[in-house]
Amino acid sequence: MNENKRKRTCLFGLPIDITTKEEVKASLLSSQTPQQVITINPEMITKSYKNAALSKLIKTADWIIPDGIGIVIALKILGINTKRIPGIELAFECLKEAEKRGLKVALVGADEETINRAKKELLQTLPNLRIVYSHNGYFNESEEKEILSELKNAEPEILLAGLGFPKQEIFLQNFKKIAKSSIMIGVGGSFDVWSKKLKRAPQIFQKLGLEWFYRLLCQPSRLKRMFPTIPLFLLKIPLEHKLHRREY
Ligand code: UDP
Repeated sequence: MNENKRKRTCLFGLPIDITTKEEVKASLLSSQTPQQVITINPEMITKSYKNAALSKLIKTADWIIPDGIGIVIALKILGINTKRIPGIELAFECLKEAEKRGLKVALVGADEETINRAKKELLQTLPNLRIVYSHNGYFNESEEKEILSELKNAEPEILLAGLGFPKQEIFLQNFKKIAKSSIMIGVGGSFDVWSKKLKRAPQIFQKLGLEWFYRLLCQPSRLKRMFPTIPLFLLKIPLEHKLHRREY
């Protein structure tokens, strides 16, 4: 994709790509350099707000795409129409393409049982997928060094990390420093869904922009994470946008 054509906007001082799943996928699969994708939601923006290290972490990604419906609503309030690009769908589309093209894939995240089951389930759907490396997501700093070195040797063309924010973004950024050319996507709880430990929201919830509500019903502990973060995030939009407006 012609980089000059990239359309970006700014929300709470952070860049957001205005794009489509197809456009991101095509660009990622044709890139010759490492590409890190952040699928952003209001919780991530709130955590990064006034936190220079986390803001920088987000800003240095190659793609920052709107995953949470809260981001889509925020942009709509600001007059920008765009669709949600769920990270789990973008990642799965890339896996489908990896199977077709014989690209090497690595998966890091979730607990041991979940990542193993996710691997098995993915191979049921995509039998020729070349999963060259997988590891659970519970590791300390010295173990991380070992994982990064194993990954370097495995040379995956696609690396999916599902460790939650910001752990997965920090991990991917560390891998980016040593990667030749990989597509790196932070996939949050996708391994939980692919392993069937958790169910993705039914289509009707997805269509109505209520996937977050379904996840809340399945995991009530998420309530603490979401409130008051998300309502406050939406209330702050008009004011913050005036302060931080910047073209990317
Ligand atoms: N996780 C992990 N290592 C950690 C903390 C979390 O691998 O140190 C995994 C956790 O098992 C789950 C995912 O990260 O699979 C977190 O998903 P979450 O629901 O927080 O992400 P979201 O989808 O909301 O971005």
